[in-house]
Amino acid sequence: MSEHRLLMIPGPIEIEPSVLEAMGTRPTSHVDADFLPVFSRALASLRTVMMAPSAQPFVVAGSGTLAMELACASLVERGDRALVVDTGYFSARMAAILERLGADVSRVSAPPGDAPSIDAVCAAIDRHAPRLVTITHVDTSTGVRIDPAPIARHAKERGALVVLDAVCSAAGEEIRQDAWGLDVVLTASQKALGAPPGLAVLTVSEAALAHRRARKSPPASLYLDLLEWLPIMQAYEAQKPSYFATPAVQLVGALERSLTAIVAEGMETRFARHAQVAGAFRAGLHALGLTLLPARDALCASTLSAVRYPPGVDASLVGAVREEGVVIATGLHPELRASYFRVGHMGATALPEILTTLGALERALARSGHRVEAGAAVAAAMRAMSPTGARP
Ligand code: PMP
Repeated sequence: MSEHRLLMIPGPIEIEPSVLEAMGTRPTSHVDADFLPVFSRALASLRTVMMAPSAQPFVVAGSGTLAMELACASLVERGDRALVVDTGYFSARMAAILERLGADVSRVSAPPGDAPSIDAVCAAIDRHAPRLVTITHVDTSTGVRIDPAPIARHAKERGALVVLDAVCSAAGEEIRQDAWGLDVVLTASQKALGAPPGLAVLTVSEAALAHRRARKSPPASLYLDLLEWLPIMQAYEAQKPSYFATPAVQLVGALERSLTAIVAEGMETRFARHAQVAGAFRAGLHALGLTLLPARDALCASTLSAVRYPPGVDASLVGAVREEGVVIATGLHPELRASYFRVGHMGATALPEILTTLGALERALARSGHRVEAGAAVAAAMRAMSPTGARP
């Protein structure tokens, strides 16, 4: 049997062989004539992936947290009012970043596993008159997905900038940056973008860049100032050599290969595929007698599932599933951590990975003393994936 364990956590995810190959190349100069078109294609593809022909893409060495800091540090000055739409762990991180920058931060929250209603968010925008509204599209700690479009519409009407943390959604969940009026969509390379960890990725509206230019004083950090990166990204897209801080050459090459495949698949097809795979996985979970953390089906993300341990089963299940050859993640939300586990299903994940994971879960649950009907989860997932019996 292969030593490889199937990686089914909500990022990093399994990557395609061609993407992996890009990581094994020798470093080229970051201003080499061969590297310039690679970076250029990656940036151009991001406009397609985020459905943002008018936005400016940025790709910077760092993780998703760096993307959050780049957006906040560039757009927020001390004393600015910011509203965090709080759906869990990563919304709390956004609030912490904004507080460090001296922003006056309010939150509109919901119990873990739920999301504040659109009415509650709009009322909070009216009450606090924030300069910046942040939304976590999919909270990776709870598997809760929120609809950013109506929030963005209301925030724009009130003159606020809107930042979408799409680390666990971009390239998996529907995002229409231009149509929805999102000023910043930020993500990282290791999730549905299908590359290894190490790149912070943002697409930024002209309104947000104008806001940065109009600041009273520049951000305290050079690396966290989008205006420092702007001419570099523009030069790379135009295939001209440029330097501010050394790009992660191999990672950019890997990202470019993955983005090319994503664009070839087509965004509508990709969103539908993620929804279908998530639905099939959840059908399998239900057949195992398991329940989900999100309060309602409509809140369940397509990119990951947060699943409660059944009675009598604890976090040792995650280790037991690993012994069955599949790596899943424990809970993350501080209030509920010990009561659930998480499984990522994004990027190239398809029926075979779902079936392998359900099989591993079934065996591990049986070993933990949870009664399961042999094969029921796999059968349910296959039926959900292809109800007519046609090959998906
Ligand atoms: N936001 C969300 C929604 C995330 O899921 C993550 C990572 N799990 C982050 C931000 C932070 O990204 P990173 O771990 O790459 O810094």
